[in-house]
Amino acid sequence: MFIGIDDTDSERGLCTTYLAAVLMERLGRWGEIKGLPRLIRLNPCARYKTRGNAALAFELESNRTEEVRETALRTVLEFSDFSGANTNPGLVIAEKVTAQMKRFYHRAVTEILEIEEARAILEDENIWHRGFKKGRGLIGALAAVGSDLPDFTYELIAYRERSRWGTKRYIDPMSVWAADALTYPLTWDTVDHHNNRIVFAPHTGDPVLFGIRGSDPEAIEQAFQTIRSEPWERRVLYWTNQGTDAHILPGKIGDTKDSQSYRLRGYVADMPVVIEGGHLFFNLWDYFGAQIKCAAFEPTKNFRKAVKQLMPGDEIEVFGAVQEGALNLEKINIMHLAAQEMLLAPVCPQCARRMESAGKGQGYRCRRCKTRAEGRERRTLKRGLENGHYEVPPCARRHLSKPLVRLNAAKELVHSSR
Ligand code: ATP
Repeated sequence: MFIGIDDTDSERGLCTTYLAAVLMERLGRWGEIKGLPRLIRLNPCARYKTRGNAALAFELESNRTEEVRETALRTVLEFSDFSGANTNPGLVIAEKVTAQMKRFYHRAVTEILEIEEARAILEDENIWHRGFKKGRGLIGALAAVGSDLPDFTYELIAYRERSRWGTKRYIDPMSVWAADALTYPLTWDTVDHHNNRIVFAPHTGDPVLFGIRGSDPEAIEQAFQTIRSEPWERRVLYWTNQGTDAHILPGKIGDTKDSQSYRLRGYVADMPVVIEGGHLFFNLWDYFGAQIKCAAFEPTKNFRKAVKQLMPGDEIEVFGAVQEGALNLEKINIMHLAAQEMLLAPVCPQCARRMESAGKGQGYRCRRCKTRAEGRERRTLKRGLENGHYEVPPCARRHLSKPLVRLNAAKELVHSSR
């Protein structure tokens, strides 16, 4: 059985991953969990998300269908925050994962879907499901069940003891920096060096104590063992599409839709402009004159330093979500930097000092040597940027965004923000 759940939490607390963790424990009575549970992030532009648009799925080997459905239903009812205006839980239990369900996952991570589309597939494939209130959670629950992960990472989430929910988390900061030093680059986004922040723990009232992301379960375990914190109630290692760019579509400038995320290639059209609040904008265009506004907002912190140095004519790729016609940058890849030139007065061939203007339209002269020259000298200036990929820092990273630490540094030029 493939079990998917989504939309059980509100801004006030709880967390769908916690519900899944409790449910897996309870279902242990009726069967065996196969492999790792999947923590699936869907379209980051989905309108009704609470935080990170997460949905959960796991596989259970069991022939106790009725008991499994009954336990799952009871657990969803017990752990969902039905009072949340935007909490519309969905529970899906499928016997197999079909091509249609996989296609639905790919659409749910890149497009905006309607509840009816999920319901149509659930009916068509005769999949057992329950939707509560508006039933919007059926979209995420079905997508999580249908998820296939050609690329994947891991996240180990530790959950707090119930008596501590809503209180300040105790995590020893020194141990977190030590865990990062020991295991980076096999783990990432635990801390943000540049902005001097610990980023792996929420500050909200939910049950998550912290989450360690990485590519290697052993390194994640090593980091976990290094961290000193309040006692945890349970911990779960998830298999996830986080950090894979699963939301990014190859696209063309002038051909993008709002609420979708793209990789676009073009030329910087104008000098980046900073507006009040520290937000940065520039336009990108292609050979055909199509244009899109690109934005690096204030929370992207030091990433803006690279963006600010872009100049008209730079050939780049941009990665990010299009909202209200503008692409919110997650990464840029500089393919070719335009030459930046300065025009200088020519050098005197006799004394090697710079000549001075001989008057408007009259060229240049050296007073001492009485030499004259016409044109100015062109000097190519060194740019503050280099070719290659630049990214937002860990404190501003979208869950789905592939961190540069995951790019093959032997093949690609990367400037990781750590
Ligand atoms: P948390 O991260 O705290 O678990 P969340 O950010 O995952 O919360 P949800 O409470 O799960 O937010 O709400 C997201 C809602 O959006 C769910 O009902 C989900 O089914 C729906 N949804 C997910 N992806 C899409 C999509 N591509 N199009 C339309 N709706 C979507």
